Amino acid sequence: MKINFTTKNLDEKLYQKSMLTYIYDHYLFEDYKRIMEQDKWEINVRKLTDFQWNFYDESIKNLSKGIPHGVTGDNVIQCYVNDENNRMYYMQNMMVICHELSHMILKIYYPNERGVLLYDDVWGKAGDERNYFSTEIHNRVHEGRTRKFKAFHEDKEYYFYGVDIDDITNKRNLNNGF
Ligand SMILES: [Zn+2]
Repeated sequence: MKINFTTKNLDEKLYQKSMLTYIYDHYLFEDYKRIMEQDKWEINVRKLTDFQWNFYDESIKNLSKGIPHGVTGDNVIQCYVNDENNRMYYMQNMMVICHELSHMILKIYYPNERGVLLYDDVWGKAGDERNYFSTEIHNRVHEGRTRKFKAFHEDKEYYFYGVDIDDITNKRNLNNGF
């Protein structure tokens, strides 16, 4: 697995540790097949200002440019975050990054399953059928289902929140989710 940054100000080590904490909390240590799948992914953390609007289709142009967000594709994730190094932006950026990571994890668990959107989102309307790894995350985000995680870095504890998908993945549950 590759984690790349095009940001200038973020503490890359802190973000890497935090991402790995979220990702590997969802795999059982002996789940080699999924861990191998996970290893094929590339995660790009980019500055919000790098976002290219022509990459997106018309229907989602109502997304605000000022709000960090991401895109999850085939074995690659693009996360667009605020390139500011403080705890407030860390929490906000990790929320965005975990959103994309949660799509990735569910895609590894449920590559072919279909799901139903329960609430309108930027891509569709309530009742639409789509990939489960897409609908389930957006349903849970709408319902505010998050889980708290912590990362340790340079003798400090950092907290962040990610979409709660604990009940539909393996439960590694070492010390991170609570
Ligand atoms: Zn999403």
